[in-house]
Amino acid sequence: MIIQGTHHAGDVRDRADVVVIGTGAGGGTLADYLSERGWDVVMLDRGGFFRAEDFTQREQDAMVAFNGRRGLDSTVDNAYFLNYAECVGGSTVHYWGDSFRAPADRLERWRGFGIDWMTVGDLAPHFDAIEADLGIHVCPERLFNENNRLVRQGCEALGIAGDAVPTARVDCIGCGWTQYGCTYNRKTSQLITTIPRVSRRGGRVYSDARAERLILEGGRARGVTGSLLDRSTDRPRGTFRVDADLVVMAGGAIGSAEFLLRNVEDPIVGRRFYMNPHYFVYADFGREIDNVTGIPCAYEVHGFRELRTDADGRYRGGGYTMLCNHQSPGVTAATLSEIGAAHRERMGKYRQLGSLMSVIDESNPGRLWVGDDGHRRTWQRVRGVDVHKAVEFMKNAARIFLAAGAREVWIPDVWGTVVRDEAEVEENIGIRSVMPNAQFAAGSHFLGTAPLGSDPEDSFADPHGEAHRIPGLYVADGAAVPGSVSKDPSLTIMAVARHIAAGMHEREGRAGA
Ligand SMILES: Cc1cc2nc3c(=O)[nH]c(=O)nc-3n(C[C@H](O)[C@H](O)[C@H](O)COP(=O)(O)OP(=O)(O)OC[C@H]3O[C@@H](n4cnc5c(N)ncnc54)[C@H](O)[C@@H]3O)c2cc1C
Repeated sequence: MIIQGTHHAGDVRDRADVVVIGTGAGGGTLADYLSERGWDVVMLDRGGFFRAEDFTQREQDAMVAFNGRRGLDSTVDNAYFLNYAECVGGSTVHYWGDSFRAPADRLERWRGFGIDWMTVGDLAPHFDAIEADLGIHVCPERLFNENNRLVRQGCEALGIAGDAVPTARVDCIGCGWTQYGCTYNRKTSQLITTIPRVSRRGGRVYSDARAERLILEGGRARGVTGSLLDRSTDRPRGTFRVDADLVVMAGGAIGSAEFLLRNVEDPIVGRRFYMNPHYFVYADFGREIDNVTGIPCAYEVHGFRELRTDADGRYRGGGYTMLCNHQSPGVTAATLSEIGAAHRERMGKYRQLGSLMSVIDESNPGRLWVGDDGHRRTWQRVRGVDVHKAVEFMKNAARIFLAAGAREVWIPDVWGTVVRDEAEVEENIGIRSVMPNAQFAAGSHFLGTAPLGSDPEDSFADPHGEAHRIPGLYVADGAAVPGSVSKDPSLTIMAVARHIAAGMHEREGRAGA
């Protein structure tokens, strides 16, 4: 049953075997696994409940309706726009559906934190099950838009490795508006996969229900209380209390960390905040190209994923991937640094632009905290080796576009950097473009704020996902993943959540039984 807090009259009391805070990639996957095995599940999401018919294919409608902080969240110095959803289905409602398994080198790194099950073999059954459930398949040629085709052409000309992405959709018609909610129910977000199943099995899914206080009994997590929100104002209009044998935090790396910081004394929460900084590069092809229809990212450039350093540890290249970028008009306008007539002139070329975006595999994470004034804050700044990764990304993105026939490549920084040939790539693109606020940059892969690990001094939860210091409290979302995946992380988050769910079921049985 879906209960919309914004319409609900009066307060709510409920009881379940497990209450799951957050209904996105992690929360949806875990709740589905447990409810299928007979657990009585309650799910909570602070955002609204929307269906296909609510998705208007208009950027401004979607941003206001279901982006975190209505699309206006950023790090403290506004250097990075924080792009995440708050709605039933979480960020999978606006994700692009790129679905990669975590590379083996990442699993090896995470085993170093004492998470022995981070192996290709242990995770394979979870990846297999999720891929089958979400219809994940390699993107077919018909979903490549021209931006994707040109990027592939540039890579092939330069011998740079890239591939069609595995994508989570079934019979996609390629309308191009995936980021603003799928109007045709073809993108297999949690909204149309796990959540309806949990609901059909008798689980209660509360939208507009912000979890605020953890109920503790004798030091053990026993449920959660919070506010039912009026969707139009975000103001409380009622309260809820859910008692449960187990509590699972799955509010995303931002939401989970904020909730935990407000409830738990723990030095680890928020200390590391990964976001895979996204920088943008545009290319003017001087002719109309279709950059919207199809799917945003049918092609990924992965030839620079591995970081290369010399014997002295100096940067020699890599440490990032590139995604073909979705260029809806509002996003394009917001990311260009010009103002007035210069901005109008650039936007006049909107239909002839290609675009690439970076996924910087950051070595130096940011952090997240709740200030003395009670507000949650985030900070990140590319620094050290990550600066080199960002600069190299821009140079190589420019080379790919030039090799594909672009007339000009734009680095959308405040300097108005333009390059037209290889000499200008080296001459014009440099560190100044990645200085804070020099260009619109963003993050959307939030990870690592309440990480798993065997060392209570360096991790929030044990390798099973249960908090070191609070029995009965689990974490099963991006917050639990101990670092950057180096690629889009949603499939990895789902597999980690499913593994945690399997362990809960094995150890606890059906909790209420
Ligand atoms: C535009 C965009 C495109 C993306 N494309 C891709 C892609 O193609 N492939 C990919 O792998 N990844 C992609 N991502 C990232 C991916 O969507 C996220 O990494 C993933 O969904 C995170 O899963 P999660 O479970 O950690 O959190 P989420 O899916 O974000 O879910 C968290 C949920 O918890 C809720 N919540 C938070 N706090 C509370 C609280 N106190 N009480 C109640 N509810 C709460 C939130 O409202 C939210 O709905 C994209 C992200 C964006 C923004």
